[in-house]
Amino acid sequence: MIDFHCHLDLYPDPAAAAANAQASNVAVLSVTTTPTAFVGTRALAAGNPLIRTALGLHPELAHQRSHELNQFDRLLPEAEFVGEIGLDGSQRFRQTRTQQLEVFDHILRSCADAGGRIMSIHSRGSVPTVLRSLNAVPEAGTPVLHWFTGTVGQAESAVESGCWFSVGTQMLTSPKGRALVQALPRDRILTETDGPFTAVGARAAEPADVSATLNLLATLWEVTVSDSRDQITSNLQSILEGFGGASPSVRVI
Ligand code: MN
Repeated sequence: MIDFHCHLDLYPDPAAAAANAQASNVAVLSVTTTPTAFVGTRALAAGNPLIRTALGLHPELAHQRSHELNQFDRLLPEAEFVGEIGLDGSQRFRQTRTQQLEVFDHILRSCADAGGRIMSIHSRGSVPTVLRSLNAVPEAGTPVLHWFTGTVGQAESAVESGCWFSVGTQMLTSPKGRALVQALPRDRILTETDGPFTAVGARAAEPADVSATLNLLATLWEVTVSDSRDQITSNLQSILEGFGGASPSVRVI
C-alpha cells in the first residue's frame, strides 16, 4: 500500500508512526512543512527504504519561513522528493498570498535548476494560480496535487498540465469529492492519508489507513480491492519510472 502524503514528524510519537508504517509494509512519502524539519524527519526513515522524505515549505508557513529558502536550496540536492509546497487561497491565509507565491515560485525554479522533482502540492482555494505557476516552470518536475478540492473543470486543466493526484478517504466520502475522483484518469491517482491531520474515529489516521481508501476506490471504480491496490501500485511505478530527474535509488520504492 502507498501513503503518498503523510506528516510522520508531526505525530505525537513520530518514531512509533514510522515503525507502524514499516510493520504494515506501507510505502510512505513523508512530507515536511519547513526546511528546518527535513533532516530530523529523514532520520525517521533510517533503515526503512519504504519511507521517502520530501523537502517542503508549507504555504501556511510561507510568510514566517521565507528566510528558510536558502536552507531549502542547500538541502535540495539531497532530497529526492519535494513537498509539502503550494498555495493556500482560503480566507485565513489570503493576506499572505504574495509571500506564498514568492516562496512557491522560488521553489519551482530551484527544482527546475536541480533537474526536476516529484512534488506534493497543496492547492486549496488556489488551483488556477498553482497551475499558472506550474505551467510557467514545466522543468520543475512532476506535480502531485494532494487532497484536491477544486472543481471538475479545474481538475481537467490540472490533468492537461501533467498533474497527478493523491486522494484520501475524505475526498471519497463526499459526493463532490467522489465526482471529482471519478473524473480523474485512474492512471494519475495515488493514495494518501495526510495524517495526523485526518482522523479515523477518535484517533489520527496513520499510513496503514490507506487500506480504507483502497476500499472506497474499489467501490467507486466498480472493481475488486485487489484491483484498486494493483492500480495504485502500478501508478507509483509509473510516476517513478516516468520521472527522468529521479535518482536511481528512487526507483526501488
Ligand atoms: Mn499535508
